[in-house]
Amino acid sequence: MPRRIPLRMLGADAENAVAADAAAAPRGRYARLRRCSLWLLFAAFYLLPWLRWDGRQALRFDLPARRLDLFGLTLWSHDVGWLLLTLFAAAAALMLTTTLAGRVWCGFACPQSVWSHAFAWLERRFAAWPAAARHVVWAALALWTGISFVGYFAPIADLVARLRPFAWSGGETFWVLFYALATWGNAGFLRSQVCRYLCPYARLQPLLCDRDTPLIGYDAMRGEPRGARACGQGSIAQRGRRLLDAGTAHDYALRASIARLAGQGGQRGDALASYAGTLPKFTDAQLGDCVDCSACVDACPARIDLRNGPHYACTACGACVDACDRSMDSHGFAHGLLRWAGANAIERQPRRRLRPRLLAGFALLLAALLAALFAAG
Ligand code: SF4
Ligand code: SF4
Repeated sequence: MPRRIPLRMLGADAENAVAADAAAAPRGRYARLRRCSLWLLFAAFYLLPWLRWDGRQALRFDLPARRLDLFGLTLWSHDVGWLLLTLFAAAAALMLTTTLAGRVWCGFACPQSVWSHAFAWLERRFAAWPAAARHVVWAALALWTGISFVGYFAPIADLVARLRPFAWSGGETFWVLFYALATWGNAGFLRSQVCRYLCPYARLQPLLCDRDTPLIGYDAMRGEPRGARACGQGSIAQRGRRLLDAGTAHDYALRASIARLAGQGGQRGDALASYAGTLPKFTDAQLGDCVDCSACVDACPARIDLRNGPHYACTACGACVDACDRSMDSHGFAHGLLRWAGANAIERQPRRRLRPRLLAGFALLLAALLAALFAAG
């Protein structure tokens, strides 16, 4: 039987409050961590070319002279083997870190993530300005990034001094503009699309991670079956509802995600709807702790719903965890429905210490370090 739904008109103040909330800076543990890493990496990137060591630029690749200055150490073209082995050791260390700690590089140190967060911050900060003004601010940061990058190859003080009157060579002008444009496009527009479609490292993740690698994961045993509920319902711990077994929890999660896909309509939607229709209706007392508020998906720069399972484009930035924690707070539930943990930990399975990927990573790193030492010796 049709039922009246009471509506309340929001005034201008309330609308402004909603808009301000949408434009507000991300909050939470992971947002703070991202901000710290952003400032550290920005400081390192923009200040390093200005640092001097023994009267020379501390870090500079002098390509015409085939010389690399590295904090007082000078490498020449015949040292390229050693340099390549050192880079290989760094790549092995990154792979090992990924197996041990998950995608910390992607979420907190990758230039694509860091500059995307910086550009998003500028976008929020200047949201009230006309779009052209925002682009001027973006362009200024992108241009300074291009100049700093070229400053690792050409003497940066001289490069900046030759800005007025303008006396850059054609090559310098091209590379500054090239890197400025790349920064502006990647961090201003493409953002997570780069991780999703262009980054080879994202595609390598399944090879590097196992069930004990901490990733951002959803605790389906606690959260399912998901659903909105009447106010005042306690969490499963408060109600004394037991955790679901892993199989049932994943089945509910799968069918809920199919139901959502089916709801999007289209030919595939019709086909899916017949399957999703078998999802039972749950009473408030049966529901898990996921209130199905979608705050995690809304907070995600790549619009990933981790309740559907791990996703290769997830950079482990933690924005969804912060959003879910806030949602849990507003319902009086404990944090951690979405959390940084391995699949075994989330499913309450025993964790393994000696894992094949870990041992392979250690062996690769050791071999690269020994080879680099041998080449240097
Ligand atoms: S799902 Fe999105 S918000 Fe959550 S960690 Fe991954 S990229 Fe970040
Ligand atoms: S934010 Fe948390 S409670 Fe809300 S839909 Fe996502 S997982 Fe569920």
